[in-house]
Amino acid sequence: MRTSHPDIHAAGDVANAFHPLLGKHIRVEHRANAVNQPHVAAKAMLGQDVAYDRVPYFFTDQYDLGMEYTGYVEPGGYDQVVFRGRRDTREFIAFWLAEGRVLAGMNVNVWDVTDPIRDLVTSRRPVDAKRLADSDVPLAHLLGRPDTTA
Ligand SMILES: Cc1cc2nc3c(=O)[nH]c(=O)nc-3n(C[C@H](O)[C@H](O)[C@H](O)COP(=O)(O)OP(=O)(O)OC[C@H]3O[C@@H](n4cnc5c(N)ncnc54)[C@H](O)[C@@H]3O)c2cc1C
Repeated sequence: MRTSHPDIHAAGDVANAFHPLLGKHIRVEHRANAVNQPHVAAKAMLGQDVAYDRVPYFFTDQYDLGMEYTGYVEPGGYDQVVFRGRRDTREFIAFWLAEGRVLAGMNVNVWDVTDPIRDLVTSRRPVDAKRLADSDVPLAHLLGRPDTTA
């Protein structure tokens, strides 16, 4: 959150911040960033050794579609899109993958799945695309956590 000037910090839409997980600077112009980055900027101002490493996230409601996007992928930065759920009734999750690893997921009219999607993104583990597409396989099972149902 610290700029090239040691006494100037930035958070929210204006910040093009280095993201440790992604290894690059990104600008995430969404509410979650504006809410969560200032805490880190404040700690940095106090001299603490901190980094903003939350996985990018946003929500949006478009008429009857409610969506949450977790992760980060650029155009051309993926080689596969896997759908889980029903596209015909517009209740599904879309996953963007590269070399079998989940880079981002967008849940559409499906709820309470942000945590396991974020875990899939941060794990960087290759996942089986067929199991990822199978709604009967809990997302956490793809991370080797068979005792969870989410
Ligand atoms: C139409 C719309 C819909 C959106 N929908 C969603 C959504 O569904 N989900 C989501 O996650 N995000 C959404 N966003 C994005 C979200 O609103 C922004 O990411 C968030 O508000 C950014 O907050 P911020 O504090 O970084 O910037 P801002 O909210 O832009 O605040 C910056 C403030 O700085 C002030 N300012 C500018 N220049 C100066 C100056 N020189 N001196 C003093 N003050 C100054 C401005 O007046 C403003 O009040 C939406 C944005 C828009 C415009």
